Amino acid sequence: MPKSRFLLNELYNRNQYRGRFAPSPTGPLHFGSLVAAVGSYLDARHHQGKWLVRIEDLDTPRTVKGAADDILRTLEAYGLHWDEDVVFQSRRTAAYEEAFLQLKKTGEIYACACSRKEIADSALHYGNELIYPGTCRNGIEPGKLARSWRVRVNETPIGFIDRTQGEITQNLATGAGDFVVLRADGLFAYQLAVVVDDDAQRVTDVVRGADLLYSTPRQIYLQRLLGMDTPAYMHLPIAVNAQGEKLSKQTLAKPVEKDKAGATLFEVLMLLRQEPPAALRAAPAREILAWAIDNWQPDAFSKCCQFSVE
Ligand SMILES: [Zn+2]
Repeated sequence: MPKSRFLLNELYNRNQYRGRFAPSPTGPLHFGSLVAAVGSYLDARHHQGKWLVRIEDLDTPRTVKGAADDILRTLEAYGLHWDEDVVFQSRRTAAYEEAFLQLKKTGEIYACACSRKEIADSALHYGNELIYPGTCRNGIEPGKLARSWRVRVNETPIGFIDRTQGEITQNLATGAGDFVVLRADGLFAYQLAVVVDDDAQRVTDVVRGADLLYSTPRQIYLQRLLGMDTPAYMHLPIAVNAQGEKLSKQTLAKPVEKDKAGATLFEVLMLLRQEPPAALRAAPAREILAWAIDNWQPDAFSKCCQFSVE
């Protein structure tokens, strides 16, 4: 291919770059989520792309009132300004319903009557994960009621090249099992919603924490069943505490402070091995971000899945 043609393609792709940050509003933004926000933001801006924000408030029982707004105010305080309107999953049920009906029509999903306890008793284990053994694949037992809906998976390995973690392959039958798309409480499952939303927002590049690395094959599987494009993926190392636990609301990670944006961003860049110049340590957020966009280097944390923070 002539060089000029290649450059044109490069340019075209860059103009099209659409990234996103998709926090769950279960509490204020904590350091672990900030790393994902900054990583996705820098990658998008480095490629002159759009950066979108989607609030994953689909899991209504876990949603904390006021948390979404607080997260958005924190992003603003950190100079992480987004493009386009913020999307709220709680307002997108019709789109999930449509995808669900498409899967139902093509026979890719089936009703499951198993209770949580029945699954725990009969499940196969894969590491710490329970693999649903497919009890209801050929119909539910007479007298039992459908609780959730699951998608049928198979032995065909699902692989992708992660931009920093390299080649990832999973056999969904042994590594994940038939997974839920509509939960027993009537809510659409995370995996389905993410796939539908990334497609609707025309996301080209997903940059998120490595805790979601092995959700990706399930999402790619759903994309294929629904005839959707698969975006590029890049999984960032996740922040863990001294006990090796992921920083989250459950591990009581502290919220990031809105009035310490510069210092905290500097810390994020250090952890992502971006080697910011020491002179930026006391700089305002926008200056640090400007430097980081120009000098963004994802190769610096390639094959790195976690780092410890105090
Ligand atoms: Zn079942």
